[in-house]
Amino acid sequence: WFNTNYHYIVPELDENINFKLNSSKIIKEYNEAKKIGITPKINIIGPLTFLGLSKNKLGENCYSYFEKIIPIYKELLIELSKLDDNIYIQFDEPIFVKDTNKLELDLLKDAYDLLSSVSKKIKIIVTTYFEHSNEATQILSKTNIWGIGLDFIYGMKNIEALKNLNSKKLIAGIVDGRNIWINDINKTIKLLNEIEKIIPKSDIIISTSCSLLHVPYTVKNEKESNINNYLSFAYEKVNEVVIISKLFNNENLSSEETKFLEKRADLLIEKENSTEINDILVQKRLKNIIKIEREGNFEERINIQKNILKLPILPTTTIGSFPQTAEIRQLRKDFKNKEISIEEYETGIKEYIDYCISFQEEIGLDILVHGEPERNDMVEYFGEQLKGFHFTSNGWVQSYGSRCVKPPIIYGDISRPKPMTLKWILYAQSKTNKIVKGMLTGPVTILNWSFIRNDMPRYEISKQIALAISDEIKDLQDAGIKIIQVDEAAFKEGYPVRKENIREYERWAVENFKLSISPANKETQIHTHMCYSEFSEIIKTIEKMDADVLTIETARSGNELLKIFNQVGYKNELGPGVYDIHSPRVPCVDEFYNQIKNLEKIFHIEKLWINPDCGLKTRKWEEVKAALSNMVQAVKMIRKN
Ligand code: GLN
Ligand code: ZN
Repeated sequence: WFNTNYHYIVPELDENINFKLNSSKIIKEYNEAKKIGITPKINIIGPLTFLGLSKNKLGENCYSYFEKIIPIYKELLIELSKLDDNIYIQFDEPIFVKDTNKLELDLLKDAYDLLSSVSKKIKIIVTTYFEHSNEATQILSKTNIWGIGLDFIYGMKNIEALKNLNSKKLIAGIVDGRNIWINDINKTIKLLNEIEKIIPKSDIIISTSCSLLHVPYTVKNEKESNINNYLSFAYEKVNEVVIISKLFNNENLSSEETKFLEKRADLLIEKENSTEINDILVQKRLKNIIKIEREGNFEERINIQKNILKLPILPTTTIGSFPQTAEIRQLRKDFKNKEISIEEYETGIKEYIDYCISFQEEIGLDILVHGEPERNDMVEYFGEQLKGFHFTSNGWVQSYGSRCVKPPIIYGDISRPKPMTLKWILYAQSKTNKIVKGMLTGPVTILNWSFIRNDMPRYEISKQIALAISDEIKDLQDAGIKIIQVDEAAFKEGYPVRKENIREYERWAVENFKLSISPANKETQIHTHMCYSEFSEIIKTIEKMDADVLTIETARSGNELLKIFNQVGYKNELGPGVYDIHSPRVPCVDEFYNQIKNLEKIFHIEKLWINPDCGLKTRKWEEVKAALSNMVQAVKMIRKN
């Protein structure tokens, strides 16, 4: 969902689609709220965002179904107008924070001209978030909608389009709906005063910057911690909105609210000066970075590496994790709850690694992994060992459907007190003569999957993480590890929504990745892995990251992506996943054989790696065993011919 870690199912529409209204859920929920004495604002996705994010058979947007869908929205409004004398309906149209075009803006005008004329009882609000939507604001102010919702946290530029608002209400998003820090209320009031210079106070309604879906529920249930006082989750944010609104409108505050405000001012000062947050050593180190990238160019490095690694053609490997069995999860849980000793825990982990190593040797994989049994999650595992990270006890946010994640909170300067992965990688390496790949998560992914501090730019936080990861790479290398993989699964997720900001993101994201791998000698082979297949436009950027080997997901999208890699002349080595690990299906040897033969036709065989398209942690052992041994057998057949 835009640049968040929330995911949605893309509606796939074709020309035969016929929309039909089913308003029962909305009406039922409205009535439920009324029953307990609340008159709610109804919130629905707007027609433009719905069609703009849907895809037709060719993978394009579905604006051509506009005429089909608009009557349904109209019908809905007619039904809703029967509910009450005054109904507030918010249409979310976040698509307009992206780069827009004339067609979209014309349709926007048509849609809201029409919808705002349905009933006098209905007050329509159109809302965007995560960026400014000035092009849309200009259009919307010429329609008869009642209000416009804008984000003043991530879309400060929204202020520029306010002068044309034409006495519409402004729902001003001034409490951050995407991050978890307490609001600096004085600063917010100043911002509101600026806005008030452009539009009258009576037209301003105070709000969060977006839906509260993206933050956890409440701080109340958190375990004791020094940073709890600085946190504000959904429940607390609503409270902030109320207080800010009262303050702004010069309403009387209760004595409790006055106390709250006084304490808030103290807390903000305390937070700024906290020694937990500021680490002089990290700040110094950041200022004195000398080595920003590794030595040697790809051609030079790969020749040296080939001599050392002596790999056969089409080397085989996996992306890192092996099945997270119920036993292994129980083992971690028992250890965390202090129900077993560290010795018992470590014995369990070692046994699992032993099992992974002997399985991989048995089927004949070339580059082995330890299997990641000690990791709960690819970001949490590292965050837990880095200084500057906080872990909540109940800070869950929805990531997709009923799935939730518990993002770490980066609150202070980041450093690595001691090695994070060395012990387990070395243990795995001691069990085999084959090469075991070290396995790390990269600085951009750790950043993108965390709540981050709001007193430092993203690139700088990511740079601190990069330095911590670079320390780990140095240690792994010094200990004799020859291949290290730095996962950047969420590199694409952090892309800015507006094109004008993409170059800058790419610049620092690539720079920080390169900084993280900078200690690697020419001899050390660096792999990186990225999930998803939608990166045809950014291949050149990925090439700049300069990993020796890149493993990607292509299995589900056919070989189209690989063709593009070839067309743009991608020069480094590449492991286009040969099967989809997101499904339990086990491809047979023939299928692997044919798939690899196809790959050879598209990409230089001497640069190809053969691997699954992502980590295997969600699969069952029986599936993994069958699939990987078929994969290796197919490669062996090809090598023979
Ligand atoms: N190394 C990780 C694993 O195999 C990568 C996970 C991912 O790409 N999402 O689980
Ligand atoms: Zn992946």
